[in-house]
Amino acid sequence: MAYYEDIVDIGGQAKCILCEVYLPDDNNYVDTHINGDQHMGLYVKRIMINNNLVLQHSKPYCLICNSVVCNLEDHIQSNQHQQRMDEIKYMVEKDGAFLEIPTKIAHKESEVHCTICDCTVGFEIKEIKDHIQSVKHKRARAMAVQPSNGIFSVEGTDDDLFCKICQLYFENYIECIFEHVDEDEKHTQTLNKILRLIKGQNITIEKYLTNVAEDKATCNKCSIEVPCNIDNLERHVKGKKHKNA
Ligand SMILES: [Zn+2]
Ligand SMILES: [Zn+2]
Ligand SMILES: [Zn+2]
Ligand SMILES: [Zn+2]
Ligand SMILES: [Zn+2]
Repeated sequence: MAYYEDIVDIGGQAKCILCEVYLPDDNNYVDTHINGDQHMGLYVKRIMINNNLVLQHSKPYCLICNSVVCNLEDHIQSNQHQQRMDEIKYMVEKDGAFLEIPTKIAHKESEVHCTICDCTVGFEIKEIKDHIQSVKHKRARAMAVQPSNGIFSVEGTDDDLFCKICQLYFENYIECIFEHVDEDEKHTQTLNKILRLIKGQNITIEKYLTNVAEDKATCNKCSIEVPCNIDNLERHVKGKKHKNA
């Protein structure tokens, strides 16, 4: 076990971040501390929270594997448990990492927090999967990723998203969103060209990117609105009125 991972150096003094106590500057004392009751107690508590183990009839029970645990260390290192934990981590990552798996002792209970739905989800494969696939979560995710890249949810459906910059629909999967925003050449070129055109020109496109109905950019220099597309912006930026404003 990596006992020492919780001992950090703060301004030359050793501190146990698990127990939140400073330790005398003495290596022997560090060993005494990490083998002490307080530290061991919290250490075990954290393992249980991070792996969704609870005490049932004073025996550890794994809610991820639905099995009684004889030896804590053996269980969390077992193939079955590791695979299930990996499956959860993979699901969460693939979804865009909006769910927080309990990692700290501060999480009193083993609950997963969804940062975009602001709700808690049971720390179990099925519950997490159900939440990720729920309409509520998909809608929240579409909202969370949309600002500043022109992606919008579509009224009446949660299956599709709309890219305003490319004027096309695509499936509401986080992979599709990232693929489109990061790798679609037309999308990145168009957006980058618009951003280059307005750079240093006192033109803002926040409204265009965050409001699906807005099709104009605002030129604060001329106090007018300009259709937000490459042609119009280029013409405006190079025009006399803007240059002399
Ligand atoms: Zn400690
Ligand atoms: Zn388990
Ligand atoms: Zn959610
Ligand atoms: Zn696009
Ligand atoms: Zn202007």
